[in-house]
Amino acid sequence: MHIHLSDSLTHEQETKDYTAELEFDVFENGLADYPVIDKKPVKLRVTNTGDKKLLIEADVSFALVMPCDRCLEAVTVPFSFPISRMADFREGKEESEEPEEQPYIEGYTLDVDALVRDELFVHMPMKVLCREDCKGICNRCGANLNHGVCGCEVTEQDPRMAVIRDIFRDANQ
Ligand SMILES: [Zn+2]
Ligand SMILES: [Zn+2]
Repeated sequence: MHIHLSDSLTHEQETKDYTAELEFDVFENGLADYPVIDKKPVKLRVTNTGDKKLLIEADVSFALVMPCDRCLEAVTVPFSFPISRMADFREGKEESEEPEEQPYIEGYTLDVDALVRDELFVHMPMKVLCREDCKGICNRCGANLNHGVCGCEVTEQDPRMAVIRDIFRDANQ
């Protein structure tokens, strides 16, 4: 959803509240595409803080469907976070100033979806597990080990296991 900011820019110290719908149904982070579900309307507040600057605040809540890192089963990962960004609309900013990355602002229009996606990168979990003790998949037959043991010998499954077994055997001799 797009919000026009020109009105806010002309009224210093004024605050405007919006409710914006999230329109993106898939989040692409360069590694994978994750379906977006359970989207709640975004509560958005735009405050003119003077000097052609707008404080953009938002509260976001939705979930991504992500594969478990171990067994690849779909996991619903909820996200809920605040966003707070300062958008600068001053003309002829000093050339030496570090150009602010504002991929969510085009002209005087705020792209709410782009803002949320930009912030979401920071909140992506390092690890996604369907449960803490997910047993993963057998790397021999591909069976999901959470659903029961497969027929494969555990010792044959991973050559490293055999090495550890040998160390134990040697130590006990
Ligand atoms: Zn899992
Ligand atoms: Zn197996």
